Amino acid sequence: MKKTKLRRDQLKPDECFCAHCTGTCCRYSSLPIETPSTWDDSDWDDSDAIRWYLAHGSTLVNVERETWYLVVMTRCTYLTDDNRCRIDLSRPKICLEYATSECEYDDDWMCEKVFEIPEQTWESAEAVLPPRLNPRRRGAALPVIEINGVAHEVQ
Ligand code: SF4
Ligand code: SF4
Repeated sequence: MKKTKLRRDQLKPDECFCAHCTGTCCRYSSLPIETPSTWDDSDWDDSDAIRWYLAHGSTLVNVERETWYLVVMTRCTYLTDDNRCRIDLSRPKICLEYATSECEYDDDWMCEKVFEIPEQTWESAEAVLPPRLNPRRRGAALPVIEINGVAHEVQ
């Protein structure tokens, strides 16, 4: 029989949500990043960095309340097989200060924007920014020529 997830109003006074959770907050790390805003000034480098983050897999970039975050989807080394913290009392400050009253136990991960693959960064930039004066090749592989048996990309 499929187990249904305990709702917040079903929690008994002596219980903790973490005992009913699969350690959702321990399966990723997240950092705020610069908001890319233009094609051609240095901000574009931030957007290009986003493409680089996303090219590594197990990463995504999301936007919540207009702040951009890099999210690395990897489980914490201290999370046990039964989804508890192995270093409970000495866990990092960010974990100590994270309260179940505001945690993502019943969060459905709805964000303003989510980018999962590098190409989505270009699509988003093209949708919100004016046309580039000097467009770069968009994600396509560069042509390759061979010189003395060595392959070179044509820039
Ligand atoms: S703090 Fe919330 S999201 Fe994290 S393990 Fe506990 S119940 Fe789950
Ligand atoms: S240190 Fe403990 S509480 Fe913090 S992310 Fe790892 S398992 Fe979770």
